[in-house]
Amino acid sequence: MEWSEQYDLHSHTTHSDGSLSVEELALNMASEGVQVWSLTDHDTISGWKEAKVSAAKHGIQFVPGVELTCDVELPWDEEILTKSGRDRSPTSWHLLAYFPYDPIPEGLRLFKEWLDPLQDDRVPRMLEMIQLVNGFGMKIEVDDVLNRAQGSVGRPHLAQAMVDAGHVSSMNEAFDLWLGDGRPCSVIRPKPSLAEASRLVHAAGGITSLAHPRYYGVDYEKLVQHLKESKVDAIEAFHRSHTDEERHSIWQAASNAGLGVTVGSDFHTPQWGHRPGHMPVVESTLPVLISSARPDQ
Ligand SMILES: [Zn+2]
Ligand SMILES: [Zn+2]
Repeated sequence: MEWSEQYDLHSHTTHSDGSLSVEELALNMASEGVQVWSLTDHDTISGWKEAKVSAAKHGIQFVPGVELTCDVELPWDEEILTKSGRDRSPTSWHLLAYFPYDPIPEGLRLFKEWLDPLQDDRVPRMLEMIQLVNGFGMKIEVDDVLNRAQGSVGRPHLAQAMVDAGHVSSMNEAFDLWLGDGRPCSVIRPKPSLAEASRLVHAAGGITSLAHPRYYGVDYEKLVQHLKESKVDAIEAFHRSHTDEERHSIWQAASNAGLGVTVGSDFHTPQWGHRPGHMPVVESTLPVLISSARPDQ
């Protein structure tokens, strides 16, 4: 069994909620020894062009990716959530989509058409949420929130603005009291299903993998069966937040079901004390499309 630390298939930049530019991140990936890198900003592919150029400049392979915000599809078990150290119930499931080889043009056109409103809706929804927050006497400027995101704006940006303005003491408090699903300032829009998202990604020649499965509070066997039924190709068993034991049990559940596994640091910012890369994965368990993307093969 060959382990490799050369893949990092999950990362964010200023195109969504990361703090580094695409070029800065590509440089970081290369200097941390990553050979195959995927940029997976939330609900946007606006960083792809730049990432391709930066990756080539630093001699690493770029896999175009995106992290899609999908619906919660199975009920969570409080006990499992607590065991995974999660103090917030899930508000969405995240599906990673990868296009390791030139996508099918017609399929990619349809995928983009489908993705655009998911992305475009983020601003109107945010404006509604800011209005609600202001209505509760917590003054927040629209620009303050929007300027925190160069691409996809989301609830964490608003939560941080609320912390910085002194309205709440932490991001968690912002979610628990105001912004979480069902709280007074949350605005919910319908989200796509895993099956719908996977269908569109497949039509464009890509593959999908469920991101950070431990966040959802679902038994892994059950989860893996659901992914199979939804035609999801893989599961991110090797996510930074997973303990060795979790990595192992998700990997086992996935291989029993014939599902691939993927690996990612979910790097957002060095301010959290994280570095990209350094994520060991057994190469043969990666979906073939991705393992064959390595430059020296
Ligand atoms: Zn995520
Ligand atoms: Zn992520």
